[in-house]
Amino acid sequence: MRRADKLSYVNQFRAGRPSGPDQEATSGYATTAVLRRANLAAVLAELRYGAGLARSQLATRTGLTTATVTRLTGTLLQKGVLVEDAAVPSGSPGRPLVPVRISGDYVVIAVHIGALSTRLGVVDLLGRVSHTEHSPHRDSSAERELPQIIAAVRALIARIPQTVIGIGVSTGGWVNHQSGRIIEHPTMDWRDVPVTGELEHATGLPTRVAANEFAGVLAERLFGNSPHVENLVYLFVGNVVAMAALSHGRIVQGAHHAAGVVDHLSVGEETAHRCRCGRMDCLNAATSQMAVVADATEAGLLAPHDTDPMDHLLEAADDGNAAAAALLHQRAHRVGRAAARLIELFDPEILVVGGTLDTPTYLTDIWAGVEEALDSRVTRDVQTLVRAPSFGNQEFTVSPAAVLLDDFYRDPVDYIDL
Ligand SMILES: [Zn+2]
Repeated sequence: MRRADKLSYVNQFRAGRPSGPDQEATSGYATTAVLRRANLAAVLAELRYGAGLARSQLATRTGLTTATVTRLTGTLLQKGVLVEDAAVPSGSPGRPLVPVRISGDYVVIAVHIGALSTRLGVVDLLGRVSHTEHSPHRDSSAERELPQIIAAVRALIARIPQTVIGIGVSTGGWVNHQSGRIIEHPTMDWRDVPVTGELEHATGLPTRVAANEFAGVLAERLFGNSPHVENLVYLFVGNVVAMAALSHGRIVQGAHHAAGVVDHLSVGEETAHRCRCGRMDCLNAATSQMAVVADATEAGLLAPHDTDPMDHLLEAADDGNAAAAALLHQRAHRVGRAAARLIELFDPEILVVGGTLDTPTYLTDIWAGVEEALDSRVTRDVQTLVRAPSFGNQEFTVSPAAVLLDDFYRDPVDYIDL
């Protein structure tokens, strides 16, 4: 075993993968199989950014021999996971380089279960979206709504030509990523719903679920504009408000998968709403979609019981409705004030604000709120630090897919017979 091969083997275990290869394995065969899985993961990890790489380049980057890389890419090409690009001159005597890249033939079904509607999407191994659909909930109870979601997922799988490797789900509230259960979704009143178990049973496909904010972190880490960032805070502002943090490359989950509740962090000014916590100045009262929609409905900007209120409010503001725009500017500014507290707590390289805020349009307001409230010992360029998600209006499709793809890139053999 080459030293680099050994290191890659050790690193696989250092990653602390919960359902990884058998760590007790001692036979030569088992060790070789585990090593091969780790090496396949290493090769795909290098190709994850989308650019084509020649086998010799992959060998340099992974520390594997060119012979090993050639064998592994041979399998991946044969299975259609990789495709070859046109040959390019190598710049030195000998054969030209033939870069390989990840194909679009394998996909994940993305499921975002929102408070009022569900979005489905088809996302390939590089995070590229090829299809989205959106359906309002008919009934928010898990007993009625989950079977509708499962039927829609099955119908989607039946009509797409690509090979589906699994299903990634994101939703609001308290989610146990490991057991695959939604422990509590506060606005839909879902309690202890075995969402991955139900989807796996109905489709036969591996399924992973995470809360929106964790999904957001995973998507940024896998496919985001700053893939090498190790310290990142993702603040999700939707019907629920929550955050997740990446600290030195690891996600902070807490002892009960319950870390990241920031609903009741003060934004520093009172609102017209009283939160269930009793305060009128917390993130939930000031910035949740429920609060903003209530304000907009009271002001006559939205019809009562609108099934897609946030999109309609954002559209009204886009169309020049000053009252709608004022509400959204105020919301973003308040989010910025609370984000300042998170920057002080976590000292991130990047803080991403996602959710139903239309962050790119209202980023200037968020920056202003941060600058007003930040009391940091570190000098910071707020405009570099605080960003919109990397995926624009595809955030709710790429993020749930990333929940499954994060696991795929740890051990691809779990998902594709290689
Ligand atoms: Zn509160």
